[in-house]
Amino acid sequence: MCGIFAFTTKNGKNAAEVLMDGLMSLEYRGYDSAGIFTPESGSIKAVGAAAQLRRKIPAGFFGKSGIAHLRWATHGEPTEQNAHPHQDCSGDVWVIHNGIIENFKALKKKLETLGHTFKSATDTEVLAHLVEEHLKTEKDFTKAALLALNEVKGTYGIAMQYRGDPSRVIGARMGSPVVLGLGEGERFIASDASPILRHTRQVVFLEDGEVASITPESHTIYKLAGTKVSREAEHIDWNAEAAQRGGYDHFMLKEIMEGPEVVENTIRGRLRESEGLAKLGGLESVERDLAKMDRIIIVGCGTAYFAGLTGEYMLEEHAGIPVEVELASEFRYRNPVVNGRTIVLAISQSGETLDTLEAIREGKRRGALTLGIVNTVGSTIARETDAGVYNHAGPEIGVASTKALVSQLSALALLTTFLGRQRGMSAHEGREIARALRALPQQIQAILNTRDGIQKMAKKYKNARDFLYIGRKYNYPIAFEGALKLKEISYIHAEGCGAGEMKHGPLAMIDQKFPTLAIATSDSVYEKMASNMQEIKARKGPLIAIASEGNDEIKQLADDVMYVPKTIEMLQPILNVVPLQLFAYFFAREKGYNVDRPRNLAKSVTVE
Ligand code: GLU
Repeated sequence: MCGIFAFTTKNGKNAAEVLMDGLMSLEYRGYDSAGIFTPESGSIKAVGAAAQLRRKIPAGFFGKSGIAHLRWATHGEPTEQNAHPHQDCSGDVWVIHNGIIENFKALKKKLETLGHTFKSATDTEVLAHLVEEHLKTEKDFTKAALLALNEVKGTYGIAMQYRGDPSRVIGARMGSPVVLGLGEGERFIASDASPILRHTRQVVFLEDGEVASITPESHTIYKLAGTKVSREAEHIDWNAEAAQRGGYDHFMLKEIMEGPEVVENTIRGRLRESEGLAKLGGLESVERDLAKMDRIIIVGCGTAYFAGLTGEYMLEEHAGIPVEVELASEFRYRNPVVNGRTIVLAISQSGETLDTLEAIREGKRRGALTLGIVNTVGSTIARETDAGVYNHAGPEIGVASTKALVSQLSALALLTTFLGRQRGMSAHEGREIARALRALPQQIQAILNTRDGIQKMAKKYKNARDFLYIGRKYNYPIAFEGALKLKEISYIHAEGCGAGEMKHGPLAMIDQKFPTLAIATSDSVYEKMASNMQEIKARKGPLIAIASEGNDEIKQLADDVMYVPKTIEMLQPILNVVPLQLFAYFFAREKGYNVDRPRNLAKSVTVE
């Protein structure tokens, strides 16, 4: 998820200044590298955030138009060479991109045989060369851009320029947001309205499959097929800060709401549904070694640790490989038994979590094959592991992890299919997992649509001082995660517990003032969960249940019910965690806390 910003004006303003100011307000979208291009002064790039780029821009750098970018790398390390804007061979076509060009390898090969040479390792660069190729026969920039865009598959929010038509910028959207800003004698293209709002409040939101061609005084929108689209401009009342949060009050809510898109991005291009296979490019180099491994140790901290626990159930049940999960901070200080046939798998959103990094180093020292499920491309864990799977979830700003977990669980399901198919999982089973994974985005959306009801529940229970979360099997780790979310942002006592353990201790705490959240979706342990809920009800404990749609009888047991759609048992936690995230969010809101910045906590924990 990068930030794109483009500007064209006839008002005598210096586009370079407008673009640099705008990049600063997009900074939350990416900070691996930054870059700018104007037809008049060319391009400058820098590793790091927008401020680093600003320092490199020489006096006199000028443009009447231009494009600027903040990168959150997906393909290629976060180096200057891989920073956008990317150019064609001639240096006439320049492109910035947010998203992933899925078929870039095939396109790159084709373009190379046509004589194009590439300068970066990114997927993005193919677009510049594709436009260059089409400009050989189609002189009109907009038409050449349309032809090029029709060849790419994947997701994009794009802005591009051509020196042959310097006041024009082409924007396009497929899966990544793009907004046009309409000023007096000037036009903008951006990833969200935040950099535009200080100039104009008149905007047009592009829809997927639309391409905009803008000049200072005009904007025309086309469908990919070339037909024109007419769309009224909208007036935006939000301030720039709210625009960064997509109009939501907090990044945490925005990130929970991104769930469907996050799953799509994590699985994109990685499933061969008809064959029941998962295709993980990041594991190709060790594919043969993986088939020989006989044990996995998953290491992680906090939410990533709970992702690991869920992964253990997936991997053991469906891939038949023994798995242990360990807190990274414990693994590194004891004397774990690891050998050359052990995989140590690190799960870390930032890829910089110190405890997890040290656990990986320890695993390596002991001869293990190390893997990572990491969101941040080029991070230390991504670099130091032998191979891995990137989440492609985009930057997570809220300190309490939400969308990263949804993505980690999806990645673990992919890994399960990958390792499972190496170990005798049938194609039928692989297809079933693939189909269920593909259905998840819509199912998550259905849960998100019930958020008003969850908000009401949070209000109802807002005075509770303690909470118990219970679950079994796949939902046992999710109970711990639900409790962790509440602790992190509401600062109240919340405990996770395997439902079967209640009678061995925690049940003693239950009374009328101690509510329990029971994850009781219809699965192989539902009856057991129902009995555990009875035990709580008998002690007059208030009960909230997460249940499968259509389960009416649960209303006799629980005081309140959050309904979720049904999927296969191993994926059900991905759905069940969503209402828990929303509940924690609304609960903390009721208490008036700053959910994006909980006290005493930091986002990426690079200390012990
Ligand atoms: N795939 C592009 C790159 O790696 C854009 C990344 C993004 O949108 O996060 O440079």
